[in-house]
Amino acid sequence: MASFTDSVGNFFRGEDNDTSLRELFLHELKDIYYAEKKLVDNLPVMAEKATTQELRSAFQMHLQETQNQVSRLEQVFRSVGEEAEEVTCEAMDGLVEEGEEVIDETQEGTLTRDAGLIISAQKIEHYEISAYGSLRTLAQMLGFNEAAQLLQQTLEEEKATDAKLTAVAESFVNQRAAAE
Ligand code: FE
Ligand code: FE
Ligand code: FE
Repeated sequence: MASFTDSVGNFFRGEDNDTSLRELFLHELKDIYYAEKKLVDNLPVMAEKATTQELRSAFQMHLQETQNQVSRLEQVFRSVGEEAEEVTCEAMDGLVEEGEEVIDETQEGTLTRDAGLIISAQKIEHYEISAYGSLRTLAQMLGFNEAAQLLQQTLEEEKATDAKLTAVAESFVNQRAAAE
């Protein structure tokens, strides 16, 4: 199957069955709503377990953004005339569990711990980037313009967070190289 965001536009073009597409949109929206709430609970743990102040600050800053993303999703629900509701996101449950494994398997106070936390966090951001990109496209197709704009805003925050985590990881590589 071709990639979702590339194919979805052509796939549904000319189809007048907007009801099923709307259902799909709502299901995905409820999934990411659950996922963001899960992250509001989990980011403080990641911040607490981080070794460097640099990574801890990055997580704390993204916690604030994530809280705001939860409210923004509630705005999206409202803009399409629906109640905010959650459906379990198995993927986010699993990604958070993997993050807990990293914490269990690395030593406190090490750069290895931070490297592991960055990997976990980037897997999470990539999941979110896929979800928001697809949701934004679906919203556009359904003519939910306000929703599309709100989803685009969050998509940009997730991409910026991913880039920031890459920068933190690169600074560790440089520190290590300098220490050798
Ligand atoms: Fe998020
Ligand atoms: Fe999910
Ligand atoms: Fe995020």
